[in-house]
Amino acid sequence: MENTLVYACRVKDREILQRSSSGGAFTAISDVFLERGDAVLCARYNYEEHRTEFKLALTKEERDASSGSMYMQSYALDSWKEALYWLKQNPERKLMFAGLGCQAAGFMQFMKMNGMSGRIFTVDIICHGAPSPLIWAEYARSLEKEGKLSDLNFRNKKTGWSKSVGTVKRNGEEISIAKYRRIYTDRYTIRPSCHLCPYTRMDRDTDITIGDFWHIEKSMPDFADEIGTSLVLIHTERGKELFDEIKENLELRESNTTDCWQLNLQEPTKPSEIRHKFWRDYRKHGIDHVMEHYGSVTFLRRAKRKIQKMLP
Ligand SMILES: Cc1cc2nc3c(=O)[nH]c(=O)nc-3n(C[C@H](O)[C@H](O)[C@H](O)COP(=O)(O)OP(=O)(O)OC[C@H]3O[C@@H](n4cnc5c(N)ncnc54)[C@H](O)[C@@H]3O)c2cc1C
Repeated sequence: MENTLVYACRVKDREILQRSSSGGAFTAISDVFLERGDAVLCARYNYEEHRTEFKLALTKEERDASSGSMYMQSYALDSWKEALYWLKQNPERKLMFAGLGCQAAGFMQFMKMNGMSGRIFTVDIICHGAPSPLIWAEYARSLEKEGKLSDLNFRNKKTGWSKSVGTVKRNGEEISIAKYRRIYTDRYTIRPSCHLCPYTRMDRDTDITIGDFWHIEKSMPDFADEIGTSLVLIHTERGKELFDEIKENLELRESNTTDCWQLNLQEPTKPSEIRHKFWRDYRKHGIDHVMEHYGSVTFLRRAKRKIQKMLP
């Protein structure tokens, strides 16, 4: 397709919207495949291993386990081979892949090598950078010393979409994981390859790209909603056809590549100037030390944030 089509949207179903990190575009798109008997390959959290893994979903219940952004690099494990096996066993069916830009490119290459690319629909997710899975797993194990973890939510919208908070339940009681989110957004834990990411562009090789429609309150104040809005970029004809099918389930506005701009649609996130210091301290003093030292809100950090907010 010559020009990328840009939409701001959110699912009409408020329950789905509440549990989705943005506006629920992932659920709306994957519904089409699952309702047709096709498969969806997407990432979900494993509480035993404290890691995020790709799994094949054949039902909405299985797919729903992938709701929400997991801020850590996810593992493909054997899922690509399982997807290939499933496609061979079900020659009439198609498969939707949802993952980060790098993962979508790798998966598509694998499917091309196996002659299956025509049956694959790809959705990639705008990405600030994937944080180290080692740091999350160590932090989770440290939290778990005081009780079993459940209901992990890196983007809990109880305080609103733009002011979302990170939470997890320990022995059924909600606790904050704000420190973990802080070391991620402060760019200490993003993997080195992400700082050189070639997929941080407006034009992509996937069918559809989804993310958050940040700053929508400025470009479309009458459409903004603190429960979340998805940004959808459509790159191919079949992406457009599919999106036409789900329009009736969405609140929707057309937009453009200027209004939806965010940094990672142009370039990769830069590493923190003191990233090396974080990792040196982690190796020397361990996870609890770096969480406390780099993840806590200090007076200096609060002042810096206030000044940043005042700047145009
Ligand atoms: C590490 C990371 C960084 C992100 N950075 C940005 C950003 O800078 N700007 C922006 O606009 N959006 C970013 N997003 C995307 C955004 O947070 C939402 O995931 C996206 O908009 C989809 O939300 P949704 O409401 O449509 O559905 P949701 O139900 O929230 O969708 C979840 C989808 O994300 C997938 N997913 C979750 N975690 C992972 C993971 N670790 N690896 C691979 N797939 C995963 C799930 O499999 C599912 O497909 C990021 C997401 C992740 C995981």
